[in-house]
Amino acid sequence: MIIKTDKDTFNHYLEDASGMIGANADKLFIPETREDVSSLLKECSDKKIPVTVAAGCTGVTGGCLAYGGVILSTEKFNSIGKIQEISKDKALITVGSGAIVNQIKSYVLENGWMYAPDPTEKNATIGGNISTDASGGRGFKYGTTRKYINAIEIVFCDGSFAKIKRGETFADDNGTVILKTNLGTKKLQLPKYNLPHIKNAAGYYNYKNADLIDVFIGHEGTLGVIISAELILIRPFEMLFGGIIFFDKKETSWDFVKEVRELSEKNKKTGALDINAMSIEYFDKNALNLIKPYYPIIPNNVDAGILFEQDCTKDTYDTLMEKWINIIEKYGINTDDVWFASNAKEQEEFRIFRHKIPEVVNEIVKKNKIPKVGTDVAVPHDKLHEMIYFCEQKFNENKLFNLTFGHIGESHLHANIIASTKEEYEKCRKIYLEIAQKAVSLGGTVTAEHGIGKVKHPFLLAMLGKEGIEEMRKFKLSLDPSNILGKDNMFRATED
Ligand SMILES: Cc1cc2nc3c(=O)[nH]c(=O)nc-3n(C[C@H](O)[C@H](O)[C@H](O)COP(=O)(O)OP(=O)(O)OC[C@H]3O[C@@H](n4cnc5c(N)ncnc54)[C@H](O)[C@@H]3O)c2cc1C
Repeated sequence: MIIKTDKDTFNHYLEDASGMIGANADKLFIPETREDVSSLLKECSDKKIPVTVAAGCTGVTGGCLAYGGVILSTEKFNSIGKIQEISKDKALITVGSGAIVNQIKSYVLENGWMYAPDPTEKNATIGGNISTDASGGRGFKYGTTRKYINAIEIVFCDGSFAKIKRGETFADDNGTVILKTNLGTKKLQLPKYNLPHIKNAAGYYNYKNADLIDVFIGHEGTLGVIISAELILIRPFEMLFGGIIFFDKKETSWDFVKEVRELSEKNKKTGALDINAMSIEYFDKNALNLIKPYYPIIPNNVDAGILFEQDCTKDTYDTLMEKWINIIEKYGINTDDVWFASNAKEQEEFRIFRHKIPEVVNEIVKKNKIPKVGTDVAVPHDKLHEMIYFCEQKFNENKLFNLTFGHIGESHLHANIIASTKEEYEKCRKIYLEIAQKAVSLGGTVTAEHGIGKVKHPFLLAMLGKEGIEEMRKFKLSLDPSNILGKDNMFRATED
């Protein structure tokens, strides 16, 4: 195990994309084997030394940032194993938790397979993606990371470890589930709060008869250290086309999305040769204007933009493209003004376009040295308009620089409110709390992909209440009695 004590050698582990400052740690540990992780966790647990797992440090909620104690880096667990074909359409691959998602994606693609989740950030690790249940633009068709995790190997704070396989262990009707480790069995009681049945990354997973593996997906580094994972691969699509459509009235774009979403959901079930989007992404006027200097194609009078993608084959391309052209024209858009992409190079330009907004926002945040306030709420589809109007009203009343983009196909948008002073930041936080409360009142979630980390505690409280947080704390303590792991991620380590 590599141990670094000179802080100058691990500064890069003291920053992520949250803009949080002041992270600090006494030491950085870089374990190389499962036994290294096991002995480190056991020792820290005995001595009550906080351990924060840091991976790609691309998270946006400060989850990987240590405030005291030590950092455990997963960088040496970066292996990418052999692809194991299970059937014509399914394969598995075992990877170290520190492997970079983009490298995994490229490797499997070169070998005729696809790892479907596609969070836009290139440097994130698979362990980070699992711990936050990351999703991204193609979540509309493929779902979140969770769906593609077949097994994990995880080390707990008492030094024990377990390989947990999907489909083997389930919670009973009362939320009790048995965890088998190399040191024996543990009876775990899952929290009892009700999580919404929409895209959600808030709270420990406790849906009825939960598969044990799902409990450790989205745990934000608080329950154990994942050292490897077995991923599910599917066959890649043959071709992809897409378009970015600019609307001069946002309401028209929402109507367009509703129709595309409903058609896609229907056609996904029937397999009809028709509209079946892979992603449906939204950019509001402010988001588009922010990147307009880099993209003159964005019209001056733009009010909203929609990016769509659909997979196809050489044989189905013409038919499907015609279907899209018809539906686009139905909403009064001249297709000459749509930015279409139909080959790999053009699709890469779309990816860069989509990534540009968070990238520019993060640059501003770094310059301002004030954390970004970025919402991650999702609501049931029929409540989306109410949610957007509510946010707009709050931003306008408070005259704050804001922009919204995200996964409108899943009624999951990121509104970014950017403060340039500490006073403005406090205002932004207050507004975010109001937005979170509104989302909860509409039957939604306060986070659908980024998690709670250290920056969103009040929002989780708004969603699960004190009782829910207490249930989470109890659950965590059943696996981490010294309360050392991922301190202050999701909720405070100690009661306020
Ligand atoms: C420009 C940009 C775009 C982004 N786009 C998306 C997007 O589209 N979708 C999305 O979901 N996210 C997105 N993110 C957020 C980020 O990439 C994800 O949260 C990602 O999953 C973090 O991975 P990481 O390896 O950087 O983890 P880190 O940031 O290092 O850690 C994240 C959390 O996971 C825990 N953790 C990491 N590895 C392990 C492990 N092996 N065992 C236990 N706990 C662990 C950490 O303790 C921490 O709590 C974006 C970020 C940026 C900067």
